[in-house]
Amino acid sequence: MKKLLALCLILIVLSTCLLTSCSVNNYKPISLKYQNSDYAPYTDGEPKSFLVDLLNNSKWHNDVAKCDCDYTVMMKNQREISYHSESGTFIDYDFGKSLTLREEDRVKLNDYFTVIMCESNVHFFDENHRCTICGFEMTE
Ligand SMILES: [Zn+2]
Ligand SMILES: [Zn+2]
Repeated sequence: MKKLLALCLILIVLSTCLLTSCSVNNYKPISLKYQNSDYAPYTDGEPKSFLVDLLNNSKWHNDVAKCDCDYTVMMKNQREISYHSESGTFIDYDFGKSLTLREEDRVKLNDYFTVIMCESNVHFFDENHRCTICGFEMTE
């Protein structure tokens, strides 16, 4: 009887582990590109841990929102997910799911993304050919 009880307990623990590991995301972002730019490395630090936390600890929806895409995030396993900075929406086409960020997270992440792009020399020029993020000026 005791043996049976122990076996049951082990089974319960095992199945709980399996269930939770299935529902947990495992995104490992390594680089980022804006529109058709080259990929810029997404190096370790606060911007990266912020993104990792958003991607892995948020509740994704099992549908692909109709959305534009201006950023693409590359994962360690070479999978890509799309991001639309205006609406704060991630789309994972491979798995048919999407994630829409809260406004404060969207603003914070967009700030990180633009700085990462500027650091790799991809700028966001205004009509005066000056980057609206870092102030870099385009020279002809
Ligand atoms: Zn959108
Ligand atoms: Zn810039």
